[in-house]
Amino acid sequence: MNRRNFLGTSLKAAAVASVMATSLKTFAAETDAEKFGRTVNDLVRANHILYRYDIVDGYGHISSRNPLNKDQFLLCRSMAPALVTKDDIFTWDMDGKPVNHDKKGYLERFIHSEIYKVRPDVNAIVHCHTPSVIPFGATHTPMKAMYHMGYFMTDGVPEYEIRDFRDPGSKTMLVENPKLGAALAKVLSNHTVAVMRGHGAVIVAPSIPDVVGRSFYLKVNAATQQNALALGKNPIYMEPGENAVQDHARDWELWVREEESSCKLAK
Ligand SMILES: [Zn+2]
Repeated sequence: MNRRNFLGTSLKAAAVASVMATSLKTFAAETDAEKFGRTVNDLVRANHILYRYDIVDGYGHISSRNPLNKDQFLLCRSMAPALVTKDDIFTWDMDGKPVNHDKKGYLERFIHSEIYKVRPDVNAIVHCHTPSVIPFGATHTPMKAMYHMGYFMTDGVPEYEIRDFRDPGSKTMLVENPKLGAALAKVLSNHTVAVMRGHGAVIVAPSIPDVVGRSFYLKVNAATQQNALALGKNPIYMEPGENAVQDHARDWELWVREEESSCKLAK
């Protein structure tokens, strides 16, 4: 179901009730098991949403810090994001090693482990190869906030050049070991986004809805900046400190409803 069809179809009452029940539940005191289960569910939804909006394809991934243990994170086994179910989500430690399972992880899980290690403010991470982002690394054009939805980039977007960090003789483009992950975390520093030359981007946030929202608007901002640069050499960007959106609760509610609606249709 595409977006237009979705918007032209009134949402089923059951889907709305389901979202409301979920929202209300988050205000009640949650048990640890409920909190963990909600995070896993949100991670599954986030995988599907990122695919629906062409932020990831068969590749790319999203993780969440374990809400019950800050020294672990949740990430699915190595597979396409659109196909992830809750049974595919597993726990990994801060060295990128599996915790109580033997599943094959993403080669690039060290992006997640090394950033979580040094960024206590970060609870969710997306790594993507979104096409509109690639030209910025390829041309060393700094990505800048074009409009208020790019609020999370006003402090700059650093660029990760893997050639500066991989072993001599290595031609890898993948963040496939802790050393390369630590170098990426260092380049990211306290920023929200880093562009990875010849590869994609990494985006961080305090929550799953926020990292999905920021990833969505990273894609939009990248396309919009290219349009602006085609029209004129000196577009007016947002200034450091200018701000607008603080969270993505409204987007998240919309995207979750779309996701639930399409799941019902698929049954
Ligand atoms: Zn990658």
